[in-house]
Amino acid sequence: MAHAAENTHDIRHDWTVAEVEQLLNLPFNDLLFRAQTIHRQYFDPNAVQVSTLLSIKTGACPEDCAYCPQSARYDTKLEKEKLMEVEAVIEKAKAAKAAGSDRFCMGAAWRSPREKDMPYVIAMVKGVKELGLETCMTLGMLDNQKADALAEAGLDYYNHNLDTSPEYYGEIITTRTYSDRLNTLANVRNAGMKVCSGGILGMGETHRDRAGLLVQLANLPAHPDSVPINQLVKVAGTPLENEGDLDPLDFIRTIAAARIMMPKSHVRLSAGREEMSEEMQAMCFFAGANSIFYGECLLTTPNPAANKDQALFRKLGINSNHRVTQAPQELDEILVQPAAATADSELFYNASAV
Ligand code: SF4
Repeated sequence: MAHAAENTHDIRHDWTVAEVEQLLNLPFNDLLFRAQTIHRQYFDPNAVQVSTLLSIKTGACPEDCAYCPQSARYDTKLEKEKLMEVEAVIEKAKAAKAAGSDRFCMGAAWRSPREKDMPYVIAMVKGVKELGLETCMTLGMLDNQKADALAEAGLDYYNHNLDTSPEYYGEIITTRTYSDRLNTLANVRNAGMKVCSGGILGMGETHRDRAGLLVQLANLPAHPDSVPINQLVKVAGTPLENEGDLDPLDFIRTIAAARIMMPKSHVRLSAGREEMSEEMQAMCFFAGANSIFYGECLLTTPNPAANKDQALFRKLGINSNHRVTQAPQELDEILVQPAAATADSELFYNASAV
């Protein structure tokens, strides 16, 4: 909810990397004060949007994203699954709605959806929408036709992350280019869907790369409606399993810069939240994060259980505007079922960067 009229000078698409590096280097209190001030102009500071993410097709992905256990190239012991049945997806969406989610995100580990997959994903979009939930999908690259077909089915959001800066990108992925990613985002935008796009921190990138990622996102023709900022989950078997730890303060700084640069976007805490303390998450909310994924499964990585999130929200006085209609314990059971068969907590990973 916007609290004040939009200041047009806040909405910029001409950020430079040097300028954003300076922003990231501000004294911490100054940076957070600036972010919180902007946040309050555009959003209720005590509201956090909640989405649920379901993996509708897990593993065996032909791409080589170095952080991802779903890539067929890495031995992460993740069990592959076929595309879920439409009805099973609808059941999960019902559970997510009962848990208080506004939005149901469905992710498939594909390079891009094949023609023969389209009728199924379209049926999923329609079925989830009928429940009164917002819909989001992350299925890999989309051409014009597929983007149009999904938009026509009523898909509200499409997630496709840029992952990192253009300069560092080649260290992380070689099977698709940065321009491929930008093209998919353009196809999604042109089809009239809302864009969800962000990146992953902690993959060995520099400060400048983080600035570069934010510049790419903020200088798109329209700011993404949602900007997921992930913290690398180091999964055994992936090339990044031994990456050094990210300084939590650098993560919070990046959230604050994202908030300042994209004032009207929902900045989302995504993968890696399981490893964040309550204090760190609280600082992220103060820095301008106002969206989380809810439920125990974040595609294939662990995510703080719904009831833990509710407890944190209560402690922080965050009103997510949701009424819970089902006991959290029961919900956790429903939401984690599909991945339970493959559940080795070390293997779980969020591939929202599809
Ligand atoms: S992030 Fe997505 S595209 Fe990359 S390997 Fe994982 S599932 Fe495939």
